[in-house]
Amino acid sequence: MATFITRFAPSPTGRLHKGHAFSALLGHGLADGAGGRWLLRIEDIDPTRCQGEYEAGILEDLAWLGLDWPMPVRRQSDHLPDYAAVVEALRQRGLLYRCFRTRKAILDAIGDAPHGSAEAARPGPHPADEEAAMLDQGLPFAWRLSLDEARSALGDPDWHALSFVEEGCGPNGETGHIKARPEIAGDVILARKDAGTAYHLAVTHDDALQGISHVIRGHDLFEATHIQVLIQTLMGWPTPVYHHHRLLTGPDGRRHAKRDRSVTLAELRAGGMTAEALRAELGV
Ligand code: GLU
Repeated sequence: MATFITRFAPSPTGRLHKGHAFSALLGHGLADGAGGRWLLRIEDIDPTRCQGEYEAGILEDLAWLGLDWPMPVRRQSDHLPDYAAVVEALRQRGLLYRCFRTRKAILDAIGDAPHGSAEAARPGPHPADEEAAMLDQGLPFAWRLSLDEARSALGDPDWHALSFVEEGCGPNGETGHIKARPEIAGDVILARKDAGTAYHLAVTHDDALQGISHVIRGHDLFEATHIQVLIQTLMGWPTPVYHHHRLLTGPDGRRHAKRDRSVTLAELRAGGMTAEALRAELGV
């Protein structure tokens, strides 16, 4: 039987909350049950939001939950040149284009777009003279993946064959063999202006490098899978099996998320909660 390798890949942008605990315990349990491995990966490519103290908090909280993981832990910010090499390879194949637009300009364009956001998320390359002028001025730019170029590079049969296996389910109950629709994500950014890489690129690179056979994560990333399958196929990387799980909601019915200041594991611990009690409450 193929080795089962999964990962828990938090971004150190805040303290972990119950939703993270659920995801980590579920993944660890599935890996244990399959005689496989559960890796911890720190996804800290966002220089504006990630902080070392949160990384230390993640290790502390996971250890408190009773979880263990192989060392060393992969920290994405230690590997920026590796991601840059992938960006360069895709660029040389003509699959990327420079985007100098600001987030605000893109959001404004979405407001103006006649057919909603899907179109605006594909701003397209700048006219050559405009691009040359902005390059001359030394303005920062991001690299976007061109869905049009990706589709012609793959050819229609391979484009239509893009798919993944979902062993959990998506937010609308999607499960089983799922056709990937990269167009729902648009021309995603693969290299941010400030970081030289971006989430979709770093995550697919690392899943391939670390031999991840099963990606276990929340429903909120189900849609991201559609574009990640495309990147894997363009790069010749295997597509793991996916297992998306439900998101926990708080007493107010809203999902737990760092930005909502949900109660953190550190606060629960300080309030006297034990890991056993939390596991029982979460049912994992
Ligand atoms: N780093 C991502 C997050 O914190 C998760 C990445 C993934 O599981 O694909 O939401």
